[in-house]
Amino acid sequence: MATNFDPDPHPHQHDHDAHPEYDTVERVEHELDYFQVRVLALADILKEKGLLTTDEMRRAVENIYSKSPAIGSRVVARSWADPAFKDRLLEDASAACLELGIDTSSINHLVALENTDEIHYMVVCTLCSCYPRLLLGQPPTWYKSFPYRSKAVADPRGALADLGYEAPEGIELRVVDSTADCRYLVLPRRPAGTDGWSEEKLLALVTRDSMIGVGDALSPEEYEAGQEAVAG
Ligand code: FE
Repeated sequence: MATNFDPDPHPHQHDHDAHPEYDTVERVEHELDYFQVRVLALADILKEKGLLTTDEMRRAVENIYSKSPAIGSRVVARSWADPAFKDRLLEDASAACLELGIDTSSINHLVALENTDEIHYMVVCTLCSCYPRLLLGQPPTWYKSFPYRSKAVADPRGALADLGYEAPEGIELRVVDSTADCRYLVLPRRPAGTDGWSEEKLLALVTRDSMIGVGDALSPEEYEAGQEAVAG
């Protein structure tokens, strides 16, 4: 079966001068790695067998890339603003997310973990890259890297420091390992100086890294400084 990206379907039979357009195709092929070629070949087979259409694949990919940490931030901001919601979230994260219209049913078991002044959770997938993509979008590159996946377990404080986060002295670090069946959302500590803030205002303080447990939420001062940097 031929795909658009078969590695050189006509090895050494072509004349580059006679087919200038071929050079471009060949160059693209050679820029794809083994897994990219394999994915394209698999997509072709699924299409040939009538199991998936190109449109279905496009929509699935669009769905994947429509997710971002802004979704998880809504969950965190609500839990800061509404203690009863937080209790429900810690009890049954999927049901609580559904209250906000966030359907996490494709995650077998979603668990929310609350960071406190005594306990700090951080998330890793030691095996591969399991991540609550529905709530946080695609994982950052470092999350999938071997150094993070190994060091998070062997030396969590060091792994956090590598990412620029100094965990508070004396705090108990708890590393949780994501799997295909179980994904974690960390509820960062609510920043000081936010008493009486609306949920809308709190939303801006939630960061992706704080929901992985490799950072804290922004303080109001850090948020203001960030806004000035953007404006300036
Ligand atoms: Fe994984």
